[in-house]
Amino acid sequence: MVVCTGCSLLCEDIELALATGAISQVKNLCRKGHGHFQALFTERTMPKIDGQEVSVDQAIKKAADILRNAKHPLLYGWSNSTLEAQRVGIDLARKLGATIDDTMSFCRGILMERVLTGKLPTCTLDDVRNFADTSIFWGSDPSNSHPRHLSRFAYYPRGEKRQKSYEEERTCIVVDVRKSATAKLCSNYFRVPPGGDADFIASVIAVLDGKIPKYGDKKRMIELGTILRKTEYGAISPGLGLVSSIQDRIELLETLVAKLNEITTFKVVPMVEHYNTRGFNQLLLNDTGYLNSVSFHSGQVTHGPENSVIAAAKGCDAALVIGSDPLSSLPFGTAKCLARVPLIAIDPRRSLTTDAAKVVIPSAMYGLEAGGSAIRMDGVKIEFEPIVKSDLLSDEQILKRLKEEI
Ligand code: SF4
Repeated sequence: MVVCTGCSLLCEDIELALATGAISQVKNLCRKGHGHFQALFTERTMPKIDGQEVSVDQAIKKAADILRNAKHPLLYGWSNSTLEAQRVGIDLARKLGATIDDTMSFCRGILMERVLTGKLPTCTLDDVRNFADTSIFWGSDPSNSHPRHLSRFAYYPRGEKRQKSYEEERTCIVVDVRKSATAKLCSNYFRVPPGGDADFIASVIAVLDGKIPKYGDKKRMIELGTILRKTEYGAISPGLGLVSSIQDRIELLETLVAKLNEITTFKVVPMVEHYNTRGFNQLLLNDTGYLNSVSFHSGQVTHGPENSVIAAAKGCDAALVIGSDPLSSLPFGTAKCLARVPLIAIDPRRSLTTDAAKVVIPSAMYGLEAGGSAIRMDGVKIEFEPIVKSDLLSDEQILKRLKEEI
């Protein structure tokens, strides 16, 4: 069996056969995973300095020179690397006195922090499959982001206590600004206007308290309250939509979850995207007490918005980007700041960031060409082996080489 690193579900039941230059046979892989595996054969990076092809050794040496001479280096990305590589990356940041940040710091980090520090009760996805009779996807659309979530865990499978599954025993609720692909599959869809989630939460709390809700369709809100009250074991899967909407008022979600747990059992499993996002947050939290936006400058550990990639990009004089494409995904101003400093990109695939980088170091694809371990979105550790032989170095090996050179 092969583990898919296409998203943070880390599906372990993939059967795959490869022929020359293509996937010849596959079982259990979703369309997103198929695209991920197919990337083995397209758009691979080459070692480069200033756009000219060089050897991997030359690229690593140049990258080490840049980092060694930088006064304020920024190390960014990490969600698509194994635990082993992330551990070396944190050591490298400490050695360099660098700022280190991940892809979650300006979005779902605040939610993950509440889960990892025990402020929001959580459970595994196996618990969801075995026990959950109500699943709420709030500002998330697993049919596109985690395509096998409903079939492996939340809605369709039989579970220890849910033998009748979605036909009789499971309810799926979607709260979103639009009727997403997931909402079309579930009979309970609640539309909220952009930014309206805080009012929606207040109305759910009101109906749970037996009051008339001020917001939304009163009859439907009361129906929702009835479903929630009858739930034996509920799971909430919040996504970027909810976190962006309530932003720094995440305690509203905590209040709702606490209220639900006065009545029945409700858990929260954040819908993080990249396959080892949670792993990086857990490692850095264990090491420094903070899950992202950390600086080791002057030998001190400091944390705060000034160390998030958005702020740190403005003051850094070199950046190492690993397994991420910030020039495509971050706000234009931040991308512009990163593009003006010597940029080192470690990535198996070509992207806007690798195209703009001063130094490109190609890496092996995890789960396909390199093994290791990662933390699934629910906190379960998953280990995987490579399925094809490759001469490419893994992220971990590249980072170790950089550390030695520096
Ligand atoms: S759901 Fe995610 S981990 Fe599972 S096969 Fe699809 S992309 Fe891969």
